[in-house]
Parts: sequence; structure tokens; C-alpha cells
Amino acid sequence: MALAISYGDIEAAHRRLQGVAHRTPVMRSQTVDALTGAQVFFKCENLQRMGAFKFRGAYNALAQLAPEQKQRGVCAFSSGNHAQGVALAAQLLGIDATLVMPQDSPAVKMAATRGYGAQVINYDRYTEDREAIAGQLARERGMTLIPPYDHADVMAGQGTAAQELFEETGPLDLLFVCLGGGGLISGCAVAARQLSPTCRVIGVEPEAGNDGQQSKRLGRIVRIDTPRTIADGAQTQALGQLTFPVIEALVADIVTVSDAELIEAMRFAAARMKMVVEPTGALAMAAALQAKVPVRGLRVGVIISGGNVDIAQLASYLA
Ligand SMILES: *Cc1c(COP(=O)(O)O)cnc(C)c1O
Repeated sequence: MALAISYGDIEAAHRRLQGVAHRTPVMRSQTVDALTGAQVFFKCENLQRMGAFKFRGAYNALAQLAPEQKQRGVCAFSSGNHAQGVALAAQLLGIDATLVMPQDSPAVKMAATRGYGAQVINYDRYTEDREAIAGQLARERGMTLIPPYDHADVMAGQGTAAQELFEETGPLDLLFVCLGGGGLISGCAVAARQLSPTCRVIGVEPEAGNDGQQSKRLGRIVRIDTPRTIADGAQTQALGQLTFPVIEALVADIVTVSDAELIEAMRFAAARMKMVVEPTGALAMAAALQAKVPVRGLRVGVIISGGNVDIAQLASYLA
């Protein structure tokens, strides 16, 4: 079966995002290189507009809607960053947006979503089905549902993060990418296949929610209960119908990190690199720092996926 996206889709997304999304910096750290014995390149999507890579996929999807779809508006369900990405993209494109968000989402993410002019509807992530709620809204109001990961335009948009990284670094041996539903990693893996064909793409999940690892190893999509982890952007229950085949074909392995290792990575980012990284955003960094696959002597890419964390919450993690 053909994969949902090709490298051409990522190039097209990159053209749409030109002058709209930030070309985020690629950072180095002497300390990280000394600690790991590797050359590590951090793609800093915590410094992307709205604070995460999600803006890339959301804008790429919304920009391609037909005029009548744009007029009726869009809706989405998200634990936070996809909501902000859709809200900001909608605002820039003059589209109405309604976001279905868990009531325990970080306050900073809900406030930012409303701040972009979107309507926010809350639900209980442990008892209610967000897809059903958003689906009903889409039907009742004629809005177009923008899924957070299982959508070709979203996947292609996310892949532009790795495209930019490889353009800057040249070929790499390893690329660590976090995953929830797998939109980011599937886009990045398609970019890697084209721009650095021998690069091994390694997925990183929270230990408490390793559905992707189980799915990859069993060769079928494994569904789990909503995991309890501080990595709120990776609390997904299953990979997507479109993302899983890409992960199966192009991702070398999936490793896990604990919440304690995430906190250590967030601390390191703040103390040594002067960067605010949210727990989910620190997954790939933690895996590289902990050498979850051997990194010594290698050229290693790390996608820092986001930086949206309540400052008070961050302070408690860092204390
Ligand atoms: C959404 C998100 C992820 C997970 O992305 P998927 O495309 O669902 O795999 C990781 N990190 C951050 C910061 C996110 O917002």
C-alpha cells in the first residue's frame, strides 16, 4: 500500500509555510556533545510560532481548504498544541475555529487558544470521547474537522521540521522524534528517507504510554487506555490509520523514557541551553541524553517539539 504522503508533499507544504512559519534554529551544546560523545543537533520547535511544530501541519491543512469550507469554519480536538496551531492558522487565514479540549489541559494552552480568537469547548479526557464530540460539531455546524495527526496535509506539514533540519545539518546517523499519534514522526521519517536515506529514525514515547512501541513490534495498531504521564502531548491511545504504515515502513525503532527522565531533560534544557521545553517536547532530548539507542561517535538529530508549559508548573519541575 502506498504511504499517505511523499517527499513532494513535504516540499509543497514548505512552500506554503514560507514566510508564515518560523524557520526555527538548530542548536548545539558542547556539554551535550561531551556527555554523549556524539554530535547532537537540536531542532528547536519550542521556538516555533504558538510554541510547537503543530502550527506547520495545521496551516498546511487549512490553507488547502476549498473556499466554502473556509467559510463554514473548522473544528478540532486536541490536548493543547494542535488546538493552538489550528486557532492561529485559522486566525491568519480568516477562518472561524472551534476547539474541543480536555478540561485538564494546561491553562496556558487553553488561554492561548482563546487568545487566537477560537471558541473552546471542554470535555473529560478519561470518560468522554473527544472524537465523537468534535464529529457531532462538524456535522451540526458544517465545520471541517482537522485531525491532530491522522491527515496527509497535517503529516506533510509536520515533516517540514525535519526537512529544515537536514537542509542545515546534511545527513545524520540518527534522528530522535517524539510521538503521540505519529503525525510528526511520520512526516519527519519521509523527509529523512529523501534527505538522509541511511539515517535511522527513532521514535520516543512516554514509558506509561508505549502503544507505538507495542504497535511497531507487533505489526498492528495497539490501543491503550489514556496514559498518565506529564507528557500531555503524547497521551494518545493509538497511532493513526495513516501514520502507522509510515512508522512501520520508515521508523527503525521506538524507545521510551520515564517522567523522571523527562524532568531531568527539561532541567538540562533550562540550565544549560537556556530553553523552556514542555514535558512532551523533552521526550526526544531525554532519549538522546540517556542514549536509549547508542549515540557515541554519531551525528544525531533531536526534534524538540514544543515549549508550552505553565511557568509555575515548570518551576515545580525544576525545583
Ligand atoms: C502533538 C505533540 C506531540 C506529538 O505529535 P504527534 O504528531 O501526535 O505524534 C509531541 N510534542 C508536542 C509538543 C506536541 O504538541
